[in-house]
Amino acid sequence: MFYEEAAYNRASELLRASEDSGQRGRFEMRLRLALHLSPKTAISYDRRNATPRWRLIYAHLVDGFAYPAESSEVLARAIARTLDNWDEKREGVTAHKNFLIQRDGNRCQNCLAVLGSTDNVTVVTKDPFKPYYLAPEELLRAEVDHMEAVSTFGTNDRSNLQLLCRLCNSGKGDGLGLSVRQEAQFAGFEIGSSPISYRSALVYWVIERDGRKCPLCGLTDRELTIRPVIDNGSLVRSNMRSACVVCAGPTASAAVTV
Ligand SMILES: [Zn+2]
Ligand SMILES: [Zn+2]
Repeated sequence: MFYEEAAYNRASELLRASEDSGQRGRFEMRLRLALHLSPKTAISYDRRNATPRWRLIYAHLVDGFAYPAESSEVLARAIARTLDNWDEKREGVTAHKNFLIQRDGNRCQNCLAVLGSTDNVTVVTKDPFKPYYLAPEELLRAEVDHMEAVSTFGTNDRSNLQLLCRLCNSGKGDGLGLSVRQEAQFAGFEIGSSPISYRSALVYWVIERDGRKCPLCGLTDRELTIRPVIDNGSLVRSNMRSACVVCAGPTASAAVTV
């Protein structure tokens, strides 16, 4: 790993790459370097090719860039891994879905909804805080998530993968959190008129913050949703808490008492 970093760092210097702006910048720089240093045959690599990807890159480094042969293998292998990760990320790692269902069960690992099922309580009750009912087939679709994002050096190793429902996965976004800017934009909205994208971000980040279990009953096997702490308070994370569908009770709008 040290040598791999060193090889990338050296290549960065050769490109006179400026120091990055955070982890996302680092991955983008890696990818840019990988694309820059690879021949076309390695970028649009056919997996049936008898020559390993890294060997194509190795030859290109030595022949095209006149890199020293003795230190180019490490760099070529690192570049091939970067391209592999990128390809797999783009393919959505769907090949891992069945494995993950076997390992973790057919539930969203964040909100614990049963994936692909319209029997979830929030669908039946049309919970506006978890708006599956607006597009159940779409929003309850199982998606493979990188717990640590590929963009921050997460890998496609199965230990870094989990299944999320589409609602949670889109709410997670780039994994960097919900910005105050977004909160300020929608804080004054009624839940029913706020965009699904904002509601999904609240669902993901509030449930994740509260430990993916019901803070009221402590159970970890019931679907989770979110509710405001103060019913007529603003639509921001800090005014939300998670609750299982039993403890949550009716939705806020129905529960408001004057
Ligand atoms: Zn979910
Ligand atoms: Zn509960």
